[in-house]
Amino acid sequence: MAMPPKPWPTGLVEQPEPLVRRVLAPNPSPYTYTGTQTYIVGAEHEVAVIDPGPAEDDHLDAIIAALGDAKVTAIMCTHTHRDHSPAAKPLAKRKGAPVVGCAPLVLEVDGPRSDEAFDTTYEPDRVLEDGEQMTGPGWTLTAVHTPGHTSNHLCFALEESGALFTGDHVMGWSTSVVIPPDGDMGDYMKSLDKLYTREDSVYYAAHGAPITKPRQLVRGMIGHRRQRENQILRLLGEEATNIEKLVPLMYKNLDPRLTGAAGMSVKAHLIDLERRGIVSRLEEKGHLEDIWQTA
Ligand SMILES: [Zn+2]
Repeated sequence: MAMPPKPWPTGLVEQPEPLVRRVLAPNPSPYTYTGTQTYIVGAEHEVAVIDPGPAEDDHLDAIIAALGDAKVTAIMCTHTHRDHSPAAKPLAKRKGAPVVGCAPLVLEVDGPRSDEAFDTTYEPDRVLEDGEQMTGPGWTLTAVHTPGHTSNHLCFALEESGALFTGDHVMGWSTSVVIPPDGDMGDYMKSLDKLYTREDSVYYAAHGAPITKPRQLVRGMIGHRRQRENQILRLLGEEATNIEKLVPLMYKNLDPRLTGAAGMSVKAHLIDLERRGIVSRLEEKGHLEDIWQTA
């Protein structure tokens, strides 16, 4: 989706509903849209901060200014991609607040896994299990486990208003990128099904505008993923081939900067289909060069 016209509200405090404020970080990119949105939950003297964002001084200062003299009960991260959690540590230090939420990942610094997208500084004081809650005056946030985009991804439900903070699991501006090995398309689909069974009134994603018809969007996303799956099966039915050749056939008018991400999403689908016994590798040449066929 094209970027919205400037000016963007970078660094400003916006209030989509009485219990929720948000501050946009200065990190726009083809992956983050206009940037990461940090949310502040609570209208009184004790609040929670969701997805503090990148550890950039301007953004930290904007969050601190928005907080005023409110006490921060919890700094909560949906997952540990670098545009979401690195500000947790410096913010915790400046506000004397605990970091609570998603689990840390066991990352490979060297070797075949590419972990550069992950925040290696993330050290939570407490990890929330599915259904566990954090509370403050007038607010209750429930952790909803939604692995897929990353294996440690959580959404947070604001019980008082019916809002759901969806991190990168579901966004209005783009489909979520699922990058193996940590990203898992099978888990991602299950996590979409999980949201479809819920009755949230609005989604606040880390990137992009609030989503006011959440179930309709989730249904569309489930359909979109099935369509991608069918597309892969149709193309492999014509000819066994590799990911590099599949991407331009599947993604028309793709922003060239997103070719790598598209390839990883196709790979995530292929791994999921392989696990289900629907496709297999005809030749293993490594990464994007493997030749895939219908089983
Ligand atoms: Zn992410």
